[in-house]
Amino acid sequence: MQLNTLLVQIGVGVDTTTGSISMPIYQTATFRHPALGQSTGFDYSRTNNPTRKVLEDGLAILEGGCRGLAFASGMAAITAILYLFRPGDHLLVCEDLYGGTYRLLNHVAVNYGLKFSLVDTTDLKAVKEAIQDNTKAIFLETPTNPLMKITDIAAIAALAKEHGLLTIVDNTFMTPYLQRPLELGADLVVHSATKYLGGHNDVVLGAVVSSREDLAERLAFIQNTVGAVPGPQDCWLVIRGLKTLAVRLDRAQANAFYLARWLASHPLVTKVYYPGLPDHPGHEVVLRQARGFGAMLSFEVARHELVEQILSRVKVISFAESLGGVESLITFPERQTHAEIPEELRRKIGINDRLLRLSVGLEDPSDLQADLEQALG
Ligand SMILES: *Cc1c(COP(=O)(O)O)cnc(C)c1O
Repeated sequence: MQLNTLLVQIGVGVDTTTGSISMPIYQTATFRHPALGQSTGFDYSRTNNPTRKVLEDGLAILEGGCRGLAFASGMAAITAILYLFRPGDHLLVCEDLYGGTYRLLNHVAVNYGLKFSLVDTTDLKAVKEAIQDNTKAIFLETPTNPLMKITDIAAIAALAKEHGLLTIVDNTFMTPYLQRPLELGADLVVHSATKYLGGHNDVVLGAVVSSREDLAERLAFIQNTVGAVPGPQDCWLVIRGLKTLAVRLDRAQANAFYLARWLASHPLVTKVYYPGLPDHPGHEVVLRQARGFGAMLSFEVARHELVEQILSRVKVISFAESLGGVESLITFPERQTHAEIPEELRRKIGINDRLLRLSVGLEDPSDLQADLEQALG
């Protein structure tokens, strides 16, 4: 079956007691045992819950993995992955990493002996040279946030396999509708479902999908033991969001393409970062490994003062953190999402005080253009 059909059908037919089309929200902490040594398959909602299970099974199918696991947030999902490692283990992570992941590694994980290095994962040679004896995994985002750099997932996964490392891909920006890293050789995919999967800026949730049974088992143990699980209502919101993922992304992507082209021709815009533009350095790779370019774009304006002007003047587009919802949002990475990244690194990778990031939503593209036009004014 096609992915867009699978998306719409998530949870349909699961509730055989009533035939409910919408998966019910099992708002319960615990489940009655039929008898000693017997279980309905559900014992306690930290361990498993029927609504959460529909979401987890759905995500596993969509990403082409053997098991999906839901967490209280994207950060909780990434934290669970870090529990796979031991003190002294070393991770290679992509350079323009989500600020929260950088903060987790740099301020929390290091206190437990986990080591990491930042590397430009678009440069295979640099990645190879950065591998140490204690390196255990490569963690990457593609496109990166906010500079939309594209990493060749298959090439990294092949290199990782050669050296016995795990490949972990944060697939938040693309979603399985556009990009399926497990099929390209990755071992784990992680999501902030807060973004496109939920899609309506109304829920915080995270997920991991594994392509390997052994890793899935360890992660399920960690999920239950650490306990950073989402509640059933939040799982239901993401199930509902997933049903429209394909149509939302098609529309958002078309809007992003339209705005990227228009911004590229604007005299006050000096740079546009969007993988769909043919002059984007990762254009060929993204064409090869993904079904689309996504709906995130960043752009640089001619002067810093324009940043403040745009952020205070936008009306249709909201000046707010986050991304991937139906409403368009604009952020200033330098002082928001990426404030945690050291200034020297921000400069090196191209984040500066003239860069804005746009999460393009589903509004009419002409209204989004008009809003930016008056804001740039
Ligand atoms: C938002 C985000 C996260 C963190 O997810 P939360 O749900 O906010 O905890 C991780 N990675 C990326 C790429 C994100 O955009």
